[in-house]
Amino acid sequence: MKKQALKLYQSQLHEMEEAGTLKRESLLSTPQGARIGVGSRKGVLNMCANNYLGLSDNKFLIEKAKESYDAWGFGLSSVRFICGTQAIHKALEKRLAAFLGTDDAILYSSCFDANGGLFETLLGPEDAVISDELNHASIIDGIRLCKARRLRYKNNDMDDLKAQLEAARDCRVKLIATDGVFSMDGFIANLPAICNLAEEHDALVMVDDSHGVGVLGGRGRGTPEHCGVMGRVDILTGTFGKALGGASGGYTAARREIVDMLRQRSRPYLFSNSVAPAICAVTMSVLNMLESSTWLPSTLRENTAHFRAALAEAGFDVPESTHPIVPIMLYDARVAREFASRLLEKGVYAVGFSHPVVPMGKARVRTQVSAAHTKKDLDFAVQCFREVKEEMNA
Ligand SMILES: *Cc1c(COP(=O)(O)O)cnc(C)c1O
Repeated sequence: MKKQALKLYQSQLHEMEEAGTLKRESLLSTPQGARIGVGSRKGVLNMCANNYLGLSDNKFLIEKAKESYDAWGFGLSSVRFICGTQAIHKALEKRLAAFLGTDDAILYSSCFDANGGLFETLLGPEDAVISDELNHASIIDGIRLCKARRLRYKNNDMDDLKAQLEAARDCRVKLIATDGVFSMDGFIANLPAICNLAEEHDALVMVDDSHGVGVLGGRGRGTPEHCGVMGRVDILTGTFGKALGGASGGYTAARREIVDMLRQRSRPYLFSNSVAPAICAVTMSVLNMLESSTWLPSTLRENTAHFRAALAEAGFDVPESTHPIVPIMLYDARVAREFASRLLEKGVYAVGFSHPVVPMGKARVRTQVSAAHTKKDLDFAVQCFREVKEEMNA
């Protein structure tokens, strides 16, 4: 029996290898940063991390983490409601809520867990969840766990959202769920229209702002700040694993009653270990940085504009947006893969994405700009893109 199961997995892995969909991990020989070691290569320009603010190897934050080990220890060996809550957890929840402009916030080990523990807690069979078709896997999985009626609308399509809200008219609670930023295209959710529709249809709005928090808005408060709807989004989830330092951890920031319910019922919160104190300490310092200066998000914004303009001038096909996720459309899966591997030979690390991660015939090399990049880095990247394009006649 066991032998048969292992044989099955072997053949499935073999099929993935044949289809070219087997994922391989590149070994980094350095901390995460603008320049990294990849395998035996040194000083490679990294254009594919979610390290938007360049904080992953920030010396000051590393010191803060070290200090926190002395003050708070290594870990809690407990969940929050048994003996896993320190002052630093409560302090971070309060700071996050103030930063994001919500009543309260609750910490999770990851945003994946925040989303996994959200829908089941808030929605029963009488309720409906209306979800953007391009939402992150963790929202999809979180929704799978709840018994609410499930409706889907076309990506950022407000007419379709309206139609789905009308279809859910008779449901008790209606919850609209969307990513703040769609990670394959760098598109920003139309939150003003979503909030208007939610108000018209008496629905709650949930935004997963993992690619928005620290990135968008004048002060890095994310997609709601960028869209001018702070205070109108009922539930925000997000990660500390991207712009806000890049280690791990996540949160849900929401209206008081919602956070109170999550503390009582949300399974990944109740049955998984407390966030490590060093992550709380470092995240507090990141929020301090963002509250005391707009320098990091504004540098990121300038870098992004610079890179997007240079790519456009070089004739690359880049979907219109202002987000630091910058996909270079190549359409053909093999071209995208070859393009990325030639970039690496020139010292630029970026990844080619193809079906099933993006729609068939929409393959691309996706790049991500960081505040840690210099203009020279970005010009170098564009130069390499130009050269590869010429070499490949792409
Ligand atoms: C990255 C990401 C997550 C997962 O965050 P983790 O904290 O790494 O679990 C969830 N949602 C979205 C939209 C993301 O981009």
